[in-house]
Amino acid sequence: MIKAIRGMRDLLPPETARWQWVEQVAREVFVLYGYREIRLPLLERTELFARSIGADTDIVGKEMYSFTDRKGESLTLRPEATASVLRAVLENGLDKGGGVKKLYTLGPMFRYERPQKGRYRQFYQINCEAYGVEAPELDAEVILLLLNILKRLQLGEMRLLINSLGCPECQVKFKAALGLFLISREGLCEDCQRRRTTNPLRVLDCKSVHCKEILKDAPVIRDYLCADCAAHFARVLELLSRFGVAYEEQPRLVRGLDYYTRTAFEVVAPGLGAQDAVAGGGRYNGLSQELGGPVLPAVGFAIGEDRLLEVLPRDPLCQDREFKVFLAALGGAARDRAFALLQELRQHDIAAEMDLEGRSLKAQMSVADRLRADCVIIIGEKELTDNKAQVRDMTDAHQQSISFAGIVDHLVMVKERRANVEEILNQTPAPR
Ligand code: ATP
Ligand code: MG
Repeated sequence: MIKAIRGMRDLLPPETARWQWVEQVAREVFVLYGYREIRLPLLERTELFARSIGADTDIVGKEMYSFTDRKGESLTLRPEATASVLRAVLENGLDKGGGVKKLYTLGPMFRYERPQKGRYRQFYQINCEAYGVEAPELDAEVILLLLNILKRLQLGEMRLLINSLGCPECQVKFKAALGLFLISREGLCEDCQRRRTTNPLRVLDCKSVHCKEILKDAPVIRDYLCADCAAHFARVLELLSRFGVAYEEQPRLVRGLDYYTRTAFEVVAPGLGAQDAVAGGGRYNGLSQELGGPVLPAVGFAIGEDRLLEVLPRDPLCQDREFKVFLAALGGAARDRAFALLQELRQHDIAAEMDLEGRSLKAQMSVADRLRADCVIIIGEKELTDNKAQVRDMTDAHQQSISFAGIVDHLVMVKERRANVEEILNQTPAPR
């Protein structure tokens, strides 16, 4: 038997209903904040990621799925979305015309990482990217948007960690100080020994416990921010406080990509073990120019959908509650009649299924149970002669005979009545 590739999993029903629910909620919130969807290729030129994410990062250094195509060109399955979105924005002139441009995208990302809990080689992100505005209000708004999505999804406990990485000028000064500190330390991991000269900021993102311990006394970027960057950060924090967001300043948070400037943040949730970040993001003012584009300030985030689903409550709101009818037919003629009724019900927006294998009534009723059908229509020879079917309400086992001509109307009415009850129930908070 051929198996799926390690680290790439199948998402199966009924779990996929939860995924749909998460994506639906995210889409609704994006619309509230003025975002529109962009859909992008999964494959890009390798150079796009190498230039944007940074050569010394884990992603570019060891996690990319790259290959040469038949023309000898190096292509890569996207490890993240920001670079691709910006590439598309610049290529299609979406940055033109001034003002803020807001885009979101959903889909799979690929990284050759060691598969474990919360870490897959194909994983899914919900991405948010806003362009054209430098104002700290946009940083705050993007964070509020992220928290709004997570709150609507009933994510219980979470912590927002935030830092400012300054502008390139602040970073030059900070890197020099950090580099000096790191040179004087023994025992860094092999990667960090190399990075301390090539890209000391990356050392701050090292996952090794030992390196983290050494870094406890390292200088922090906050002490190296220029006046403009300090004011920008202060305003972001002030806005978050004003809107009731409890944040934690994390002076060593740098994130795993080189392109961040100023605001950087992460949302972590308990219950995920070592891979506790469900979302991360920040500002990336320099990326457009890095890719040969104009000055284009930008800020965004990515939610890791796999990890988010891991910690979300198994909420009744996202369960499959579609009103459903099952048709149990006995004998060839009844099956033929049922098949026609099946099509008619679907025309009237009623989800319906039937047995196609001529099974016993008992077997058909147990299929109806398994499908959690709300009503079962039973058609046998007697029903055909009487031109009526038995309609059984599965919630109270009440059964009545209804003429074939009246069945669709009857079920449309039952469905509506059920929807009204659901609506009333939904107005009370969901049980936790
Ligand atoms: P981590 O530090 O956990 O490796 P990262 O800094 O590499 O995360 P980003 O590139 O910022 O993560 O991606 C944003 C989010 O995508 C993460 O917060 C996480 O929820 C999710 N994510 C990243 N890599 C994976 C993966 N291999 N499997 C599942 N989810 C992932
Ligand atoms: Mg990573």
